[in-house]
Parts: sequence; structure tokens; C-alpha cells
Amino acid sequence: MSNQIKKYGIMGGTFDPIHAGHLVIAEEIRYKFNLDKVIFIPAGNPPHKDSRKVTSSNHRYQMALLATISNPYFDISSIELEREGITYTIDTIMELKKCCGDGAEFYFITGADSLLQLSTWKDVDKLLSICKFVAATRPGFQMSKIETKVKELESKYNRSIYTVTVPALQISSTDIRNRIKNGMTVKYLLPESVEAYIIKHKLYQDNVEKDCI
Ligand code: ATP
Ligand code: MG
Repeated sequence: MSNQIKKYGIMGGTFDPIHAGHLVIAEEIRYKFNLDKVIFIPAGNPPHKDSRKVTSSNHRYQMALLATISNPYFDISSIELEREGITYTIDTIMELKKCCGDGAEFYFITGADSLLQLSTWKDVDKLLSICKFVAATRPGFQMSKIETKVKELESKYNRSIYTVTVPALQISSTDIRNRIKNGMTVKYLLPESVEAYIIKHKLYQDNVEKDCI
């Protein structure tokens, strides 16, 4: 990462698998906030994920790499995948701060559903003080609820949180996994290269033994 780059978007997620919803919010926010880069950070072992067995880090990283490779503003980092134990966003941002230099500004990109959970994140006070939060609209999550939550967080932590309306895509990784399991099409919900990767490695088909690398 060059020292010249000052404004980084941080796009965290389980990305199991990465899909068009993730890419659209990252690009829209990059454009609106004039970010120099958006770094996709596949989650290692996040505290918020349900008990579902998450696909191996390697597969999720490879899919995110394939999905982001054609956008010169997108980068990917395995910083969370390399960390042992439960991974917290605060530790990730602190680590990034160290390697990006003092001038770097961080914009944490999140969908409306994740924003609604923000109060439960580790050291949220500190997190809001070292990076700006940008919440993207997501189908199924009412704008009024998001605005109420944003106001609550802003007054509790005395920090501004941005909300951005992005083109609505009713796509989720859960739906994609279920579609694949049920033999339904996932075309255009994610990049073709990611679909090809899923087919090649027989991911999300249950009953079928997964290729583990
Ligand atoms: P899952 O169904 O497994 O929870 P997901 O589609 O929600 O997967 P995540 O990896 O959990 O994807 O999400 C990473 C980030 O992207 C979160 O902040 C989430 O709110 C946001 N996000 C995911 N899909 C969309 C979408 N279609 N529109 C807006 N934001 C989204
Ligand atoms: Mg999710």
C-alpha cells in the first residue's frame, strides 16, 4: 500500500460467497466519498456470525479476489484470516492504521443490517473515533429504523455516521447458498468467475463433499 493513499474504504464481510450486493455498495461508496482504495477484508472468525459452519477462509478469500480483481480501486487483505481466535474489527483497524501511516483515513463500509448491531461490537467507542462509518441501505431494512439507530449511536458516542442510499439489490449470501443447494440459478447475482469457482469446488451443495484447500 502506497503512503500517498489517504482515504481507505474498509469493506468487511464473511463473503460466503461474495456477491453483487457487496460490490455495488463498495463501488458506490468509493465513488461518493472519493476514496483512493476499498480494501475487502474477509472475516476470520467473527464474533457475530451464527453457528453455521462458514466455508474455509481460503475459498472465501479466493472468491473475493476473483470478484475484485477487475476494479483498480479494489484491494483485498487476508489480515483477519491470518489472526488466531475471534477476530474483532477494532484490532483490524488498529493494525491497518499502523501499516498505512498517520495520514490515512478509514471509512468502514457496512450494510444497514450490520449497522443495527454496531452497539454490540468490541470497543465501539474507540472504533468510531478511529474510523468513519458509512452505512449503505439494504432491501428489507427500513430507512426509518436505520436513521433512528444512527441518531442513537451519534448521540451516545458523539460521532457522525454517514448513511448512503445505494442501488437496491435484494441479494444475500444466505440466499445464494440456498439457491445452490436447491439447484437453482445464481447467474448475475455474483460475478461469473465466482460462480465458476463455486462450481469447480462444489461449494454449497451440502451432501457433496467439499474440496478443502
Ligand atoms: P449472509 O447472508 O451470510 O449474512 P450477506 O449477504 O449478509 O451474507 P455479509 O458477508 O454478511 O453478506 O455482508 C458483508 C457486509 O455487506 C455487511 O455489512 C452487509 O450488511 C453488507 N451487505 C451484504 N449484502 C448487501 C446488499 N445486498 N445490500 C447492501 N448491503 C449488503
Ligand atoms: Mg450478513
